[in-house]
Amino acid sequence: MDHFQLKNGVLHCENVPLPAIAEAVGTPVYVYSAATMQRHARVFQEALAGLDDPLIAYAVKANPNAAVLATLRDEGLGADVVSGGEYRRAIAAGVPPEKIVFSGVGKTANEMRLALGGGLCQFNLESFEEAEMLSAVAAAMGKTAPVAFRVNPDVEAGTHAKISTGAAHNKFGIPILDALAAYASAKSLPGLDVQGVAVHIGSQLTSLAPLESAFRKVGELIAELRKGGHGIRKADLGGGLGIPYDPGVPPPPNPKTYGKMVAKVTRGWNVRLIFEPGRLIVGNAGVLLTEVIRVKPGATDPFVIVDAAMNDLMRPSLYDAWHAIDAVQPRGTRMTANVVGPVCETGDTFATGRDMDGVQAGDLVVFRTAGAYAATMASTYNSRPLTPEVMVSGDKWAIVRERQDVESLIQADKIPNWLA
Ligand SMILES: *Cc1c(COP(=O)(O)O)cnc(C)c1O
Repeated sequence: MDHFQLKNGVLHCENVPLPAIAEAVGTPVYVYSAATMQRHARVFQEALAGLDDPLIAYAVKANPNAAVLATLRDEGLGADVVSGGEYRRAIAAGVPPEKIVFSGVGKTANEMRLALGGGLCQFNLESFEEAEMLSAVAAAMGKTAPVAFRVNPDVEAGTHAKISTGAAHNKFGIPILDALAAYASAKSLPGLDVQGVAVHIGSQLTSLAPLESAFRKVGELIAELRKGGHGIRKADLGGGLGIPYDPGVPPPPNPKTYGKMVAKVTRGWNVRLIFEPGRLIVGNAGVLLTEVIRVKPGATDPFVIVDAAMNDLMRPSLYDAWHAIDAVQPRGTRMTANVVGPVCETGDTFATGRDMDGVQAGDLVVFRTAGAYAATMASTYNSRPLTPEVMVSGDKWAIVRERQDVESLIQADKIPNWLA
């Protein structure tokens, strides 16, 4: 459920009519609902209420806006970060260091130093080579790094190939069959305190089966590690639970069902569980609000050309993602159309042959479910400045990221003196 609803024929975010935001800020603009994020954080916490003190570390990469991080910090969530930049954002937003998990397959020595200096819950290590580097960095700082190894359980997540991470051929984690050897070798590394096991098999999972099978493998590994004398105290089960994008397909399992499955599978593990939800918390809490520039006849269906493009919302061109497209003030008519942006690529297509509200030039439309992996993936391709972001809370709203101006784009380039 989200807080983007029609009231008197006008789409609102909570109590704010979207045309008011479009008029004040211009389009395209991302609009986030704080109440929706808060609701999703609470639903997830309630789903895990039976567990002993779980840590919910929000995956910052889904939406790293400072206002989003501050909203979730106030809900008690920690942060899962995958770069030094995300670590700094989490700290700047006031996320307590002991609630920060550092994931990612290519952490550099500088990033390790940054997080060791500021503190964190744990590093999730993805190779033995990384463990050796972290041990050396920590030892040089006179510190011991809390770590888990991320294991690759070799399960097919059943999601889009570009967001599957838990199959043997993916770059992520240590093959689960090599895990015992990695833990054994890591014991002799002086700068590490090996305390956990981590797993994350992909994003937008629409079935619990692959998650359950991955978690069972983690459970078996924990038992074997303990037999081998390793003090395993934490298990990080990652993120990945899918959300509804298309009302025409059955919705993914809800957090409550996920929580029950986790409670069943992890019974007796005797560890602190960590979760890293991203999309689930923020995906349905955002829309991309855009204006129809013109409607152009097409060979079969007309092209609805909007002022948002693939550089603002990459998911359709990158993952063939489906976003609901709705008029902000529906006219009560329907049309079948191709919805495209102004960028000079055929890939700049949001929808093909879509049955949608009838729209005309000047109408406002939204792409729904644009709170996760949306603004954060934006680029300035075609010299289109980055889209602003607005957060709504009740009847208040604020710009939480300014629209980039073209002048700053131009100024960022430097002309070498031989051309001046
Ligand atoms: C991306 C990512 C997540 C979040 O995935 P969602 O599908 O958004 O829940 C969690 N953990 C790791 C390691 C990730 O890379």
